[in-house]
Amino acid sequence: MCKDFDGFEVLRDIDLDLAPGTTTCILGPSGSGKSTFLRCLNWLEEPSAGSVHIDGKPIGRSGNGRATRPMARRELASTRTSIAMVFQHFALWPHLTVLGNVTEAPVHVLGRPKREAEEEGRAILARVGLTEKADVYPHTLSGGQKQRVAISRALAMRPKVILFDEPTSALDPEMVGEVLSVIRELAREGLTMVIVTHEMSFAREIADTIVFMDGGRIREIAAPTDFFTNPQSDRARRFIFRP
Ligand code: ADP
Ligand code: MG
Repeated sequence: MCKDFDGFEVLRDIDLDLAPGTTTCILGPSGSGKSTFLRCLNWLEEPSAGSVHIDGKPIGRSGNGRATRPMARRELASTRTSIAMVFQHFALWPHLTVLGNVTEAPVHVLGRPKREAEEEGRAILARVGLTEKADVYPHTLSGGQKQRVAISRALAMRPKVILFDEPTSALDPEMVGEVLSVIRELAREGLTMVIVTHEMSFAREIADTIVFMDGGRIREIAAPTDFFTNPQSDRARRFIFRP
């Protein structure tokens, strides 16, 4: 996959396989293209070249080989539901309750019956420790609680993959732990996740694979122990052992 913005190259020759049920952590300096890569994965941005497949099915463009064409909006919306995204700044809907945030897309995008979506929504909120908060509005929540709602909203779509873009970067330090433990639990349950993070010890603990990006390219793909004890590139070494 490649991506440029008006001729400015941001991603170059990105090629990555995600094994189902694994957690991949993407590390790399600011500006290296991590967010753009996640946004291309779920087609929030259209790659300039290349493709994205889930279980062999294309996202964004249909057809094979060179003879592909853009998907119609409806088809695109439906394929994109298999990839959920959790953003640094939560992006909750302020006018909906917590439960409303969690059930909005299952009801209006997937067409699931409201009552069923609410029942499942409450069960998901219980899983992330927010049973008591189902009926309040987002502005009453702490940052850590907001991010747990955002994760619940992603889970409610029963996606095949969840992408996290620096899920704890906007949080006060004392709230980082509660969000990381929810993500840790999801990893244990075998969800397929891609997590852009600067939490090195967390990445080392939960990742099956570390992807190191720099300058719009993937510079290293390695098991966490290998990456953190014996990085292959100078860039990665400087990144890990920076003062
Ligand atoms: P990271 O998430 O690793 O910090 P980004 O993917 O946000 O990196 O950005 C990578 C590069 O792409 C940066 O140089 C950034 O300025 C540029 N970029 C990102 N989005 C856009 C955009 N919509 N238009 C132009 N340039 C962009
Ligand atoms: Mg980013």
